[in-house]
Amino acid sequence: LFITFEGGEGAGKSTQVALLEAHLRAGGRDVVRTREPGGTPGAEALRDFLLFGGHDLSLRAEILAHFAARCDHVDRLIRPALARGAVVICDRFADSTMAYQGYGIGQGDPATIGLIDALTAQVGLVPDLTLVLALDRARARQRLDARGGRSDRYEAADEAFHARVAEGFETIARTHAGRCVHLSADQPAEAIARDVAQRVDARLT
Ligand code: C5P
Repeated sequence: LFITFEGGEGAGKSTQVALLEAHLRAGGRDVVRTREPGGTPGAEALRDFLLFGGHDLSLRAEILAHFAARCDHVDRLIRPALARGAVVICDRFADSTMAYQGYGIGQGDPATIGLIDALTAQVGLVPDLTLVLALDRARARQRLDARGGRSDRYEAADEAFHARVAEGFETIARTHAGRCVHLSADQPAEAIARDVAQRVDARLT
């Protein structure tokens, strides 16, 4: 079973990923928890380059770099784990490329969306379940400010960009309603975790 978590920064994805991992481990499952961009040594190096490298790639080049990282991650970590029967929980996957590069930076430009769709099809691995955590931007901002730490180039972007990303995630969740669940992140983490655990357990039995 391949489960992905998606959503803007500050929506509590990492917390939910950790809670779901604990829930599944308590049930005796083989669980692999990973993230994107990253997840393998090569893909983590690309993550550093993409988020903190200080280089400004053309949008197409940036998209290809995200997919280069994704292919390494899928080929070397995710597919082998699924093949041995593990549950893989991934913090972000291809939907993030669509939301950030397609709708955020690319502003929904059809050629850009088409490129991302084509590369996604090429990767050839579709999540069984995608949990899209949605949080009002003002609340997300508060959470991020409270968290502190180093902020990457995207977290520093303007509010219009983040609004396009959030709308992008909504569009994705609507378009792929079969695998996506849009959840309000504006509720206690434990309540979200219970909801998520039920949905995952339903797919495991
Ligand atoms: O989920 P996490 O906060 O670790 O994401 C790392 C950063 O990568 C975020 O700031 C997110 O905006 C950015 N990102 C991106 N494009 C992607 C995936 C992540 O800009 N395709």
